[in-house]
Amino acid sequence: MSSLAIKQLIATLEEQLQQRPNDSSVKARLDKLYAERTDAEKAVIAATTAKMHQQELEQKKLDKKMKIKRYEPEAEYVPPPPAGRNITCCDCAQEFFFAQKEEELFLAEGMQPRKRCAPCLKVKKDNQPQPIELCCVGCKGTFTFSVASQKNFKAQGWAAPKRCHNCRAAKKTKQVAVAVLATE
Ligand SMILES: [Zn+2]
Ligand SMILES: [Zn+2]
Repeated sequence: MSSLAIKQLIATLEEQLQQRPNDSSVKARLDKLYAERTDAEKAVIAATTAKMHQQELEQKKLDKKMKIKRYEPEAEYVPPPPAGRNITCCDCAQEFFFAQKEEELFLAEGMQPRKRCAPCLKVKKDNQPQPIELCCVGCKGTFTFSVASQKNFKAQGWAAPKRCHNCRAAKKTKQVAVAVLATE
């Protein structure tokens, strides 16, 4: 059956079905026709594609013969996947990607390859000691208790400093002066 004949028959049967919605034989015939219509449509599309392809080939042959060069759009550029390797994070044991470019930079800086994934690295950084702003009991100003000083104080078993550098120096001078006076 031609696709036009199928279409016409479908239209007729659909009309019948509207008048007798419970007629199962009409329904069955319609279902069969719908499937046939789909197949017919697919065949039409396939035939059209084949025809276009054939025309294209013929055009190319003709172009070659006539030495005509036509512009052909280049295939869309798909960048290659980045080079690198997977490393198992030493904290969470999940694999993470370490790009080769990054590794080269690390090597150039004399650094070891990454050991931690980005989230674990952030956690480690966040947990690292930070410089602390302290209030000086002498001048009531603030001063920075550096990370190096924090480590030093901790190693010596000292409590955090109460005075800023200037006030501490002033206090020391005063103490020295008192001590000198006392010995005189
Ligand atoms: Zn991790
Ligand atoms: Zn001070």
